[in-house]
Amino acid sequence: MTGLVAGVTIDAARRTLAARFSAAGLDSPDLDGRLLVGHALQLDLTGLVTQGSRLLSPAEAQHLETLASRRLAGEPVARILGAREFWGLPLQLSADTLVPRPDTETVVELALEHLSAAGDLKRRLRIADLGTGSGAILLALLSELPQAHGIGTDISIAALRTARDNARALGLGARAGFVACSYASALAAPFDLIVSNPPYIPSSEIGDLAIDVRDHDPLRALDGGRDGLDAYRALIPQAANLLQPGGAVIVEVGLGQSGDVVTLMTEAGLVTESWAIRADLAGIPRAVGALKKLR
Ligand code: GLN
Repeated sequence: MTGLVAGVTIDAARRTLAARFSAAGLDSPDLDGRLLVGHALQLDLTGLVTQGSRLLSPAEAQHLETLASRRLAGEPVARILGAREFWGLPLQLSADTLVPRPDTETVVELALEHLSAAGDLKRRLRIADLGTGSGAILLALLSELPQAHGIGTDISIAALRTARDNARALGLGARAGFVACSYASALAAPFDLIVSNPPYIPSSEIGDLAIDVRDHDPLRALDGGRDGLDAYRALIPQAANLLQPGGAVIVEVGLGQSGDVVTLMTEAGLVTESWAIRADLAGIPRAVGALKKLR
């Protein structure tokens, strides 16, 4: 199919991209086309609609063509834009951060439900997000919990910079701190809530992941070791030591891992209950929680 040429309208460019993306079998061709045209021309949805009959300049057509080729080569839109929404919050991404997934919102939902049931939503909570990446889970929680303070950790300094910039851009910088360490290894007690979406893909399955994940998400954020559970073995005992009595740890898990993660939590002396497993939109158990015993 032909590339984009200068002199076509914005509407026509969107239609052309959508048709090419559709022909290539992409899942959301219209949306992808709209996001890439909006990004290339620095227009929001209203701008795209009101300027639909404006003609593309040669530079715009060429820029858009470059973005379209990247998308057709399998690069996710979120990577091309360097941004993605999570929990309704706009987040910047970098090469060292995972693209936040809608599935991960189940961790936020379970945490808020637990805090709500405990009557804790307005308390001065202390939260830790282990392996925070873009800061997605921590910042979503801080946006909902007006008195809470949180620390995000990561072994990647570049990810921590991205998370810190996101916190500032969202007006949450005063309540969010960032620490370079592996999971909770540099943190001191006490915490009321510890959350994490650690790497959990078994090493041998990395090669079979979809291209948009395998070739574009950072390997360190995906690879969970031989059985995918290495991160949980490290971070669950740390969390058990750092939680206040009555505090909760809530983690995202991969396909088929909820039972093993519950076992690791129980072995660490935590209490798991039926409320604390939550499925994602596909019905897969995705978030698992446990409580530290009240003495
Ligand atoms: N949810 C990601 C995927 O399935 C994996 C993220 C992770 O390992 N925490 O591709």
